[in-house]
Amino acid sequence: MPGILESEIKFLAGVGPRRATLLEKELNIKNFGDMLLFFPFRYIDRSRIYTISEVEASMSYIQLRGRINRINIIGERGPSKRLVATLTDPTGSIDLIFFQGIKWMKERIKLNQEYIIFGKPTVFNQSLNIVHPEVDSITEENPYYIGNMIGVYSSTEKLRSGGMSNKVFAKLQATLLRQCSEGIRETLPEWLVKEKKLMSIKDALQNIHFPSDIKRLASAQFRFKFEELFYLQLSLLSQKSLRERNVKGIIMPRVGESFNKCYQNIPFELTNAQKRVIREVRDDFKSGRQMNRLLQGDVGSGKTMVAILCSLLVSDNGYQSCIMAPTEVLANQHYIGSQKLLEDSGIKSALLTGSTKTKERREIALGLSEGSIQILFGTHALIEESVQFSNLGFAVIDEQHRFGVEQRAKLWSKNSEVLPHVLVMTATPIPRTLAMTLYGDLDVSVIDELPPGRKSIRTMHTTESHRRKIYDFMKEEIAKGRQVFIVYPLINESETLDYKNLQEGYENIIREFPAPQYVTAVVHGKQKNEDKAYDMALFASGKANILVSTSVIEVGVDVPNASVMMIESAERFGLSQLHQLRGRVGRGSDNSYCILMTGHKLTKESKQRIELMCSTQDGFELAEADMRMRGPGDIEGTQQSGLPIELRLSDLAKDSQILEDARRTAFSLLESDPLIEKWENRLLREQLVKIKGIKEDYSRIS
Ligand code: ADP
Ligand code: MG
Repeated sequence: MPGILESEIKFLAGVGPRRATLLEKELNIKNFGDMLLFFPFRYIDRSRIYTISEVEASMSYIQLRGRINRINIIGERGPSKRLVATLTDPTGSIDLIFFQGIKWMKERIKLNQEYIIFGKPTVFNQSLNIVHPEVDSITEENPYYIGNMIGVYSSTEKLRSGGMSNKVFAKLQATLLRQCSEGIRETLPEWLVKEKKLMSIKDALQNIHFPSDIKRLASAQFRFKFEELFYLQLSLLSQKSLRERNVKGIIMPRVGESFNKCYQNIPFELTNAQKRVIREVRDDFKSGRQMNRLLQGDVGSGKTMVAILCSLLVSDNGYQSCIMAPTEVLANQHYIGSQKLLEDSGIKSALLTGSTKTKERREIALGLSEGSIQILFGTHALIEESVQFSNLGFAVIDEQHRFGVEQRAKLWSKNSEVLPHVLVMTATPIPRTLAMTLYGDLDVSVIDELPPGRKSIRTMHTTESHRRKIYDFMKEEIAKGRQVFIVYPLINESETLDYKNLQEGYENIIREFPAPQYVTAVVHGKQKNEDKAYDMALFASGKANILVSTSVIEVGVDVPNASVMMIESAERFGLSQLHQLRGRVGRGSDNSYCILMTGHKLTKESKQRIELMCSTQDGFELAEADMRMRGPGDIEGTQQSGLPIELRLSDLAKDSQILEDARRTAFSLLESDPLIEKWENRLLREQLVKIKGIKEDYSRIS
């Protein structure tokens, strides 16, 4: 039975068909309920009245109180025609300007009467004015002043010109709250409202639109934030538990010869963190559940080694593995890096990338379908239709944010009967709160420890005028046998300007570091694959002293002998990207340096970024800072649009405590009621069904 909240918005007093169309088009508001859930995005404290002498152009909305002692209409006709009313208080006067509704205003405003005006100061014709303020006479009964806090609704040009001012929104909300009070039903179960001491939905709606004071506003906001984060987590966690019930995982209990042999072959001791992660994966392999695990670990923390060792466990149980890297360079490196380890293990592996020749491709295809190849390294070439495994048991995806959801899905579907276990690896540290949300249905492992003996990387900020000194420094490092990275920004592959910079930079370097004394390699996106591979190999083998490149080297290349990373126009990179680049050095046991070259003039934000880079090497700290500075939507490699629920109020950067509480609550609820079928939770089930109906579920990994 449709309730009053489902009534079409055009039937609300003060809306009508024309505004209804606007509301739907601009804000997707279709019915009464949608409107009630359209919350103010900020509030203005109307208890404060400014004096005219205090007004500054930088202020946002303010309130003034005074008398209007002059009204003029300036200009003949057309866009410059305006009404100017001068408001005066004991401290001065200011012009109020109206371009629209001139006639109406002129009739309405009475000279020398006292008014409260409300608007945003601007500079017009070189003096301070307020354009189109709200003007209320002091005596006027105003339904809209319930408390002192006035909500501001986000609006669009079209809405405003359609007469939907902030005041109109407030009036509509007031009408709705009055009319619908019977129809508003609690959207959280009673026990939860009690347990968390939440404001009831009715009170919360009232106070989010018309807060009686700041405390009640905070309680109302808390309620809605908790609610949306709770449903988000409940949705993610319930999917996870459903999947765990329904999808059978391949059971791989054995630790056999290939694993043990290779383990002994490793020329170093694994870090405790690496050992812990391998144990976590092993537990999943034994559990009968299909593993979906996210492995986070800073650059250089040794994720690849973990992936290979896990693949060996898989071979010991008679299944195949694949390890997918985002670039050919990396896939190559994984493959070559693993060969020594696999040397006398009896395990056969292969490399499949875009440049694999047809003949070899055929051999690989055969080896895969026969099962004679146990580990396949490669790029996204390995998710192509033609690649068929005989029994894929484990899929590793390195630097997962470079792969889209569909690409991943293709990989899972390689086995029709059972899904392989999945390990997704990323070196982009994702702040905890974001990981809990974006990957809320995955298990998360973290390598939070770097292999021993790594020296810290000294990071310095420098500008053009010190370039000479920097070059001298590089020469010293090269004389010690070290190698140098020089990276140019490449924001957009097609930006010719970026290539010009790189080209000029490269020529410059060759002049500064002339052959044959120095060898300089260059790698960028516009090269042919062979050229790229050649230059890359030149540097990786130590034959080139310098590698000039765009950020293609960002992901993963391992040249332990490199000790200097110079980043040109560093202000153009985001924090996480800078951090990734910096991680290319400091892999050997020598002192390493990261040099951030920037222009002289930096915006406040770039400056903050550069300073942060110089002050910390902790990827998680940087990721948190990045999220605070730029908002979660902009974190590289993560898109909030992947969430099953649109967050109206919550800010993942600021509301982490509420998020954690919501997740804990959802978790313990599912423990006691895994299928959400208890009577007292029927409301939760209804809401979840609604949510899923609204948005397709992208967060699933399989
Ligand atoms: P990530 O992929 O996490 O950035 P890699 O797996 O490429 O890191 O490892 C970086 C380098 O550290 C490689 O040369 C690797 O062989 C080496 N390495 C990995 N684990 C250890 C360890 N426990 N001790 C010493 N070196 C290690
Ligand atoms: Mg790696």
